[in-house]
Order: sequence, then structure tokens, then C-alpha cells
Amino acid sequence: MRTEVIARQKELGRKTAIVLPVFYPRELLTAMDVHAVELWGPPGPPRGPDSGRIQSYVCAVARNALAFLASGGGKDADALLIPHTCDALQGLATLAPDLGGWEKPAFRYHHPKGEDRPSARKFVRSELEALAGELSRLTGKPPDAGRLREAIALQAKIDRLRGTLLSRRAYLETDDGALYRLLRRGEYLWPEDHLAELEDAVRGIREGRRRSGIPLMVTGYVPEPMTLFDLLDAAGAYVAADDYAAIGRRIPLPSEDEDADPLDRLSVLPFRLPPCPTRSADLVRRMAYLEGLYRRSGSAGLVVHIPKFCEPESFDVPAILQRFAGLGAPVLLLETGLEKEMPAQAATRLEAFVENLKYRYPSN
Ligand code: SF4
Repeated sequence: MRTEVIARQKELGRKTAIVLPVFYPRELLTAMDVHAVELWGPPGPPRGPDSGRIQSYVCAVARNALAFLASGGGKDADALLIPHTCDALQGLATLAPDLGGWEKPAFRYHHPKGEDRPSARKFVRSELEALAGELSRLTGKPPDAGRLREAIALQAKIDRLRGTLLSRRAYLETDDGALYRLLRRGEYLWPEDHLAELEDAVRGIREGRRRSGIPLMVTGYVPEPMTLFDLLDAAGAYVAADDYAAIGRRIPLPSEDEDADPLDRLSVLPFRLPPCPTRSADLVRRMAYLEGLYRRSGSAGLVVHIPKFCEPESFDVPAILQRFAGLGAPVLLLETGLEKEMPAQAATRLEAFVENLKYRYPSN
């Protein structure tokens, strides 16, 4: 599927960049005719022996990505973009060109860590300018403020629709598996094509219909394995609130900030996102955000779903467990790799968790 999408974008004269998780200025790439294709692994076993160049106690996202790139998986792409998400990806930025056979341009993007402040905005702006320069060399086109404004507006529309689908999901006919497959197509579709699919999906919201089952909140990194949603569905539960880094945490919170200069607007955007441990968000703010999301969604329990060996996600787990214990909220902690299917033990724990909630909340 991605191969065809890439081929189509190339026919349209666009370059392709493979982008590692999580946060990057997609608007800038769009404005410069660079098609972003995100690489979250990929899932399944590593595609070659080069995963062994990284220690076995590093997450599967980084190990699989190196194996994929080293085995020629990114041969159709023109460049690699590695955000400074964590130590593992920082290492990959060196390993992929040095040992992974990646000979095309490899760009780095340092997104801000911590909370909003003038120096951080200035820092983001300088990172954006540096990346714009590299993309310009890749495409042979100069940055264009008008096109950047259009790309920002386009992405804002996409984010609004994604937010609507997540917050109104109880009124959709599609199940969670189909909804998440749609949302994840945004990882590789050209933004206008993704927008058209989202508009179509939003038209399917029917206020008169409301989903039955146990509503759950999920916080974590990336919804892999995707069979998680089939398991929840079969057990009689659904995701009522999403705090995945790959999904809900990439939808900006409402804001009045409307800087005229497009690069200034882009410099502010990271601070409008929900708090995320990969951006070293303030723990107090994050716990308040998670509690608010949980309460508003009417969830009956929380699933903390993180990748094995993921340092940023693991850092916040003790605080999450403590906060939700204080709320009297049932919590299930699931650690998974990038398996194609949910491991049997994790599936059993998930089913037992939902069964337990059915007894606690029989009216659902
Ligand atoms: S899963 Fe965690 S440790 Fe691995 S690349 Fe992502 S943020 Fe980094």
C-alpha cells in the first residue's frame, strides 16, 4: 500500500521522506512538496540481521527501524528524518548512515523539551529554519511563506477532524479497529488525501446512535499490535478516550494563538499539544490532563499500553498508577513489543480486565 502511495506522489513530482516517531513539523514538509511516510517499526519480526547492531534492551521501534532501513526497506525514499524523541532514536540517527547502509540525506529535528517559554520558541524556530534549508536542498525549491500558511491551515483541518472522530467515536458505526486504521493512514497518505477520507468518516457520525459496552481510556505510545481493538471489541469494551503518542497526543489543544508569521505559528504548535513524556512534559500538568480526559470520557478503566524498553513512556507510569489509584480507577498495565498479534498472555489479561469491569459497572 505504502509503495503505491509513494509511487503516486513521485509521479506528482514530490520527494519522499521516511520519518521516525513522534513529533515533527509535517506542515513544513507538505509546504515543500515532501511526502512524509512515518516508520513506527515496522511491526512484526525485524526485517534483517541489523537489528542486532542495537542492544537487545532497546525498544523494537528503533531495532526494527534499523533492520528495515539496512535491508533496503526505504529504497524508494529520498531522505530520512529523525526527530530527537529519545536516546534510542538519537542513536539511530548515527547508526542508520554509519552502519545501516543509509546513503541518502538523514535530517535531524530537535523538537522542544519541557514547557512553553520564549527561549524554547526561539529554539524551535531555529530548528525549523535549519530543516527548511535541508528540505530546500533536497527539493531544489526555496521555502515559500504562502505555501507554508496553506499547509498549516490544511493540517489544522485534519487535526480538527481527527479530534472530532476521537471525541465522537461513540456515535460512529465503525468499530475501533476501523477507526484506528483510518487515523493511521495519516501516517503515509498525502495530507489532502487523508483529509478527504476523514471528511467522509465524519459524515458517518449519528447523534442518535450510541455505542454500548465498557468505555475505556488508553494511554500509551502506538497502537500496536492493532489486534488490541479486536480483543477489546470481542470482550465488550471500546476506547472512549485516547492518549496514544501516535494518535491523540498529536492533536493540538484549542488555542487563541494566531501568529501572522507561519514559522512563528509552527514554533508555537509543539506547546499546544497534549503533554507527552517524549517531550518531557511537566508531570503535574500531564497527570491533570489525563485525569481530565478520563473524567470527561466517562471511562470505566484505564489501559496503560507501552512498548517494552521505552524509557520516556515508562518514566511516567508510576505517577499514572498513583494518580489513578487515588481516583479509585481500575488500571491495566500492558507492555508489548511490535508483534503482529497481541501475545496470548496479554490478551488474557485484557479480557479479564474487561470482565472485571462488567461486574463493577453492570449498567454498561
Ligand atoms: S518506543 Fe520509546 S524508546 Fe523506542 S523509539 Fe519510541 S520513544 Fe524511543
